[in-house]
Formats: sequence, structure tokens, C-alpha cells
Amino acid sequence: MTASLPMPVAGCTDLPVPFASNATQLPVLKERGQREVFCGLTGIVWLHRKMQDAFFMVVGSRTCAHLIQSAAGVMIFAEPRFGTAILGERDLAGLADANEELDRCVQQLLERRPDIATLFLVGSCPSEVIKLDLHRAAERLNQRFFPQVRVLNYSGSGIETTFTQGEDTCLKCMVPHLPATTTDAPELMVVGTLADVVEDQFSRIFRDLGIGPVHFFPPRRARDLPPIGPNTRLLLAQPFLSETVRALQARGATLLQSPYPFGVQGTNAWFRAAAAAFDVPDARVAEATRAPAERAVRALARYRERLGGKRLFFFPDSQLEIPLARFLHHECGVELVEVGTPYLDRLLVEAELPLLPGTITLSEGQDVDKQLDRCREARPDLTVCGLGLANPLEAEGMRTKWAIELVFTPIHGYDQAADLAELFARPLDRAERLTV
Ligand code: SF4
Repeated sequence: MTASLPMPVAGCTDLPVPFASNATQLPVLKERGQREVFCGLTGIVWLHRKMQDAFFMVVGSRTCAHLIQSAAGVMIFAEPRFGTAILGERDLAGLADANEELDRCVQQLLERRPDIATLFLVGSCPSEVIKLDLHRAAERLNQRFFPQVRVLNYSGSGIETTFTQGEDTCLKCMVPHLPATTTDAPELMVVGTLADVVEDQFSRIFRDLGIGPVHFFPPRRARDLPPIGPNTRLLLAQPFLSETVRALQARGATLLQSPYPFGVQGTNAWFRAAAAAFDVPDARVAEATRAPAERAVRALARYRERLGGKRLFFFPDSQLEIPLARFLHHECGVELVEVGTPYLDRLLVEAELPLLPGTITLSEGQDVDKQLDRCREARPDLTVCGLGLANPLEAEGMRTKWAIELVFTPIHGYDQAADLAELFARPLDRAERLTV
């Protein structure tokens, strides 16, 4: 049973004052068993699209190369901005000097691709197993290639990670290189990769609100690193950037607590949080956001009809589970059975937790067999999970949604709210069509 809310209508699109006042005390089922996770290299798929002057060189095995190729799709005609320096048997056996090989690969790449301004060396399970020190490699290569090319390194290793952690480790490795702010006036930094179309929409609204300067991190060009300092206010666009946020705080920035900009209500609350930090009155926020919010409410209405009353089970995978569960419950009328998250970092979801209904099972971590048992017993209408669980559950007659699609698709903001709902409605529609 979940608390029901009135259907959102134009002009009435705010999140409720937390109605499960003890929801921050919602018991958390912590599980530490076997987990189904997906490799952090996957983040390269959206990061390379965002930072158009960057190149991601995975230092890994053929398996890593296959993963990244199949995740990103094979680009035959374009020169992609990612690749794999494949560790051969001689490297893995220690018979070749992997550092020399790496330097040779980097030199060849940079000679062929003068457009590269930032080169990320991305660690993998194999490079970590043979203890190849990519941090020292990046320092060594910077001595040769900086300032034409900045060489950075991070780990995308799939050992014990969720696939969105690749973005966190990537952004964190850039933080020490951000320049210091040069004034004391407040500045806003939006943290987390956003599709360019969403970034443009948000920029327009910030401009209408008179909030600025606004920096987006990561930037569209890795060379244009945004400034950071005690006058920076951080507004998070993605709920999986634990290490990056702490690194930015260590540089003096202040985190603004807000629900995430998913759905109309989340996006309203997100702009309000920014506006409050810049002393912009609520009335001005309402005026600047009214038209897109009303459009989004109208577009969402049919999904509320489609998804209302459906029971949904989230396996822990993308770390987007908590804000998406809030959106689905409040704006689409979905009944939440279990909301699983790989990690529960309260610093990042402080404003979201009180908005979850107090009747759900909130779980952190995973013991996959036990969780599958709970899911089978609940027989939800839709299960959101990783690729590895989706096929077996479909074979058992359950409808599933791949969590990874939620990261590959623009889902933030007003104009994407209906597209976000559509992602959950589609598997249900398909199942219905197949049974007619
Ligand atoms: S899990 Fe490890 S070995 Fe597999 S693709 Fe990812 S980094 Fe490579």
C-alpha cells in the first residue's frame, strides 16, 4: 500500500511537503551477498559524447575492448573517441614492459589525432591485476605532451563497482585540475553529465532566472575546465557522484540539497534550490518555469493513466533508483514494492529520502538470490534491473526494464519527463501487444 497523491495538474506541480515524516528513518535492508553488477567502463559511452575533445584509452584486455565496442555500438565510418590498448599475453606475463608499450600506443594515437586535447587512460581489471600504475604513466606522459594534451587517469574496473561509478571516478580525476575561481561572487556548478539538449534547456532557464555564472561539469570541451572555489554552489544532476562531490567540497564548494531534476516536480524543486541560493524569489521561478512545466504535465497525463497502480520493483544497478522511484510514485501513480540501490549515500539523497513512501522496502547492496526470491514472491508488474537478470526474469514471465537505458537516454528536465515515463510504459505496452 502506498500513499496516494492527487494527479499533478498544471499550476499544482510541486512535491508534497515530506508526508512520511519519518521516511529518513525508513529501515534500510542492507545486504552484502553476491551482486549482479556491470562494468564501470560503460561510462565512456556517454562521457565521450559529452566531452568532444577528449579521448578515452582503456588499458585492458580483449574482453574490455568487446564490452566497450558493443556498449557503444560499432562506429565504422566515424573515428571514435575511445579505444583499447590491449594488454597481450606478454604484457600480462610480465615479459614485455607494459609502460613502454603504453607510451608507444599514446604517441601513435596523438600523432594521428591532433584534435585530442585531453587523454584519459582508463584502468581495467587486467591493468589492475598486473599493477600497471596508470597514475605514474599519466604523469610521465604529461611531461612529454602537456600543454598540447593533458593526460589524466581513472579506474573503470568492473571489480566491485556499479556501471555509473565510471563517471564518478572520471570526474573526480579532473577535480584537482579545475582552476580556482577569481571572484567572491556566487557561482553555480551543475555536476553530472547531461545531454547537450538538456543542458541548453537548463541554461535558458537559469538565464531567465538571472542566475549566473553557471558552469556545467563535465564541460562540453574537456579543455574548458570550470572554476571552483568557496563561492561555488554545487547542484547535482546525477545521484551517483559521491567521490566527485566530496572532492569538490574539499576545494571549498558548497553542496545545495535538492531532489534531482527528474519529472516536473523534481525539476521544479531543483530550480528552486538554485534560486534560493541566489536569492531569486519563488514567484520568478514559477514564471520562468511555468510554460515547460505545464507542457510536461500535459505530456505526462497519458503515462499516469498507463502506469497508475502498476507495481514496480527496482534491483540495485544504476544508482538512479531512489529519485526515479520518487518520480514514478508521485507523478505516475506507480506503487513501489522494493527500491534497491547499490549504495545509499545520504549526502547525495538527503532531499529525496523523505519523499519516498514509508511503506516500501528500501534495500542497499545485494544478495542476488534472496532479492530474486523477494521479487518472484511479489510478482511486480515491472522489474527494473541489469542486463544479466532481465532475460531470466523475462523467461519466468515477468516484464523487465534495463536500468542501463536510463543512463543512455536524455531523461532530465521538463521536456524529457514524458520520455522518462515512456521508458517504463514501453515494456508493459509490448507485453500487452504480445498477449492480444
Ligand atoms: S569487468 Fe573488468 S575485464 Fe570485464 S570489461 Fe570491465 S574492466 Fe574489462
